[in-house]
Amino acid sequence: MNVHINTLLCKGCAFCVKYCPKKILEMGTERNKKGHFFVITTDEEKCTSCAICAAMCPEAAIEITKEDSNG
Ligand code: SF4
Ligand code: SF4
Repeated sequence: MNVHINTLLCKGCAFCVKYCPKKILEMGTERNKKGHFFVITTDEEKCTSCAICAAMCPEAAIEITKEDSNG
């Protein structure tokens, strides 16, 4: 898992959905405790850890970690 979405911080602006070059983010159908729809990952194996989504997020709701490719 490289993409960590803090669903409580997400406000559903969908910037990350729009800018992910791999198109693996989309708006979910559930709401968080604040009443906002939040983003989910669709095909996380395709994530390149480019961190564009994290850079675009105005709420800093996304964190990207890079996994060792050894394992
Ligand atoms: S790190 Fe890059 S490829 Fe992965 S979800 Fe974010 S924008 Fe998409
Ligand atoms: S950019 Fe941030 S706040 Fe906007 S939908 Fe994506 S995770 Fe949520």
